[in-house]
Amino acid sequence: MTTSTESSTLVRPASLTPELLGRLCGMVVSDGATTYSHVEVYTGQPIIDLPQSSPEDVTAAYVTARAAQRAWAARPLRSRLAVMRRFHELLLANWETVVDLMQVETGKARRMSFEEVCDVAMTTSHYLKAAPRILKERKHGGVIPVVSRSTEVHVPKGVIALISPWNFPFAISLSDSMPALIAGNGVVLKPDNKSALCVTYGVSLLREAGLPEGLVQIVLGEGPDIGPALVDGADFVMFTGSTATGRVIGARAGQNLIDCTLELGGKNPLIVLDDADLDEAVPGAMFGTFLNAGQACMHIERIYVPADLEAEFTRRFVAAVDQLRVGATYDYGPQMGGLISPAALERVSAHVQDAVDKGATVLTGGRARPDIGPTFYEPTVLTGVTKEMVHGTQETFGPVVSIYTYSSIDEAVALANDTDYGLNASIWGKDLKRAEAVGRRIESGGINVNDGLACSYASKRTPSGGFKNSGVGARHGDYGMLKYTDLQNVAVLKKQVLTSPDEGFEENIVKTLKGLAIMRKLGIR
Ligand code: NAD
Repeated sequence: MTTSTESSTLVRPASLTPELLGRLCGMVVSDGATTYSHVEVYTGQPIIDLPQSSPEDVTAAYVTARAAQRAWAARPLRSRLAVMRRFHELLLANWETVVDLMQVETGKARRMSFEEVCDVAMTTSHYLKAAPRILKERKHGGVIPVVSRSTEVHVPKGVIALISPWNFPFAISLSDSMPALIAGNGVVLKPDNKSALCVTYGVSLLREAGLPEGLVQIVLGEGPDIGPALVDGADFVMFTGSTATGRVIGARAGQNLIDCTLELGGKNPLIVLDDADLDEAVPGAMFGTFLNAGQACMHIERIYVPADLEAEFTRRFVAAVDQLRVGATYDYGPQMGGLISPAALERVSAHVQDAVDKGATVLTGGRARPDIGPTFYEPTVLTGVTKEMVHGTQETFGPVVSIYTYSSIDEAVALANDTDYGLNASIWGKDLKRAEAVGRRIESGGINVNDGLACSYASKRTPSGGFKNSGVGARHGDYGMLKYTDLQNVAVLKKQVLTSPDEGFEENIVKTLKGLAIMRKLGIR
């Protein structure tokens, strides 16, 4: 890796004025009794004390959002879409402030922060166009032709609890809110404390675009403190985070008989096929592994290479990793930034140390870099990793990847599937038909042929979710909007012909059976 030398002269982006930070803190539903000390990741210096919400604040947030939601749902769809169109314009005009806030509070590379802006713009564009079709009422023939009809209506659920992680805070919080709001719901949004400012700024743009004041409520706090109140007040929970927290939230949602989407962790494989173009596969694997310093649910932690390509692939991959630009600067130079916190650095270091202690080899990297910033870890490539090592089975969630070999496609598929997770898989090969066929054998919600992860996730028309312990439900596509609605079946009978008279019941049975036979022949029922 190469490092940026500008960290000693780091100057915070000018957009982070006390006025802006104070305004954003003022948007949090909180009595201000407790605060969270929010720090700049590259320096560890305080940014501001974030107000925290109590369970009572969360309950109050639902009352406000619920009142606003009724009026919002009553507005015609085109009026709700007009607000989102203005939001899209405001986002493209103010993207730089989003990127500034996100970079200071998460320590991610500036290019990655910019990608989050693109994700929200793309998701908004998609649903602006698709919502009228997705939410359109569908008329169906009723049980008795001509005299009856039945209409499928999508009614907004009410108020959605949206709980988001720090790793893609802006993209997840805003992109997941978009279909919920367009469908007529309110949202109580709980971003992670570590990434609260950019999310809150996004909500301020929604309000500036004309979103009713109370409709999106922001609450902040540690999960165990306000999680129960968040789930208990909701009509649906949209959760993104770890598998462990997903289980807690899913269980509580189940108790409350409400539905939820759980977007959880991954341990994602990349298979290099024997006909892969290494000029594309090597940079593709690099991006898939080290984007966001390896703190992406879909990022690659396992690379499988044919035994006779191993030496060549590994040589090229390690050489490319050694050229990766890592740095703590607020410009577009670094390709990789820091980890989110000293605790994350500790976890990543421990996973690598455990692997080394149990016999793995570090091909490059393998060290913390306090000289760059307090949370920096070198991009690291391991070999000789086994399932006895923590990194062999668990999500390391940092810039660490291991290379393995395989001797047949069947073995590669079996190795890729040998995990409790199933979020993303990447397959590289020139024969697209063959590569796709291999991909379809992987037990994973996302399959990317000749790409690390972006191709599937950025296809907003197609739902994205996880298999196995990687999740329940999905986001994007029609499903990503319909899940925020309840289905109502409105049936109308022009003349009552369904109740049988008490007398002559047996003759009626004969008539009914004949009717059922005719219906099947005509394909009616
Ligand atoms: P996390 O589960 O610790 O926290 C996620 C969010 O849930 C945070 O806002 C947190 O405050 C909140 N939370 C924690 N405990 C809670 C509780 N008991 N009740 C309610 N809310 C609670 O996860 P994290 O470490 O912040 O995020 C990283 C994880 O998220 C990784 O496992 C990653 O793979 C996963 N992730 C998945 C996706 C996806 O789309 N599948 C996307 C991004 C991240």
